[in-house]
Amino acid sequence: MGVSENIEMVKAGLGDVTKLIAVTKTKPAELIMEAYEAGVVDFGENKVQEMVSKYEKMPKDIRWHQIGHLQTNKVKYIAPFVFLIHSVDSLKLLKEINKQALANNRVIDCLLQVYIAREETKFGLSREEIIEILTAPDLDHLQNICITGLMGMASNTENTEVIRNEFAGLKLFFEELKSISHPRIQMKELSMGMSGDYPVAVEEGSTLVRVGSLLFGER
Ligand SMILES: *Cc1c(COP(=O)(O)O)cnc(C)c1O
Repeated sequence: MGVSENIEMVKAGLGDVTKLIAVTKTKPAELIMEAYEAGVVDFGENKVQEMVSKYEKMPKDIRWHQIGHLQTNKVKYIAPFVFLIHSVDSLKLLKEINKQALANNRVIDCLLQVYIAREETKFGLSREEIIEILTAPDLDHLQNICITGLMGMASNTENTEVIRNEFAGLKLFFEELKSISHPRIQMKELSMGMSGDYPVAVEEGSTLVRVGSLLFGER
């Protein structure tokens, strides 16, 4: 099947509340154009340099999502155009995003990345750390960011029940956080689900799935 058929297939399983982010890391611009022409406007990249170079080549109505670990010193390169940063894992990073957003006279939406104990990646925040950030006095001064939700990755396992439990736990935490009232916080997006587990994520309340290899082939 081609890219557009793959997109149709994935979209058909998403329902009304979940949006597709096509993850295009390592894939060339021509393949991204196929997805764009099939109606996809949200694209995810995990490396700053690759995102910037694709941003320069591609149609300007594309919404670029930073999904990979973001180093503080690289924020400035994506700050002029990035649509949503999924991978915020420290208050320090949030402050730098705020600074660069201010320099570009815009507000940048951010998700806090939640660490799930069994996942391989070392990035992400514990629930305690997330509460700390959401209640930090410093947040009051960060007028050029908005925390719009959470991102999480389930463990890399074939065991669907483990994955379902992790997603369900994340959803519960996300719902709890909605009770926090703050001008810089608007808990509305829950970014969870990839090629291997997005149907489970959708069932458990994901609003954004990040799908790569299922659309574009293995990397
Ligand atoms: C690569 C990546 C994806 C997409 O993974 P696939 O298995 O190819 O769908 C999703 N989220 C993050 C954070 C990624 O780095």
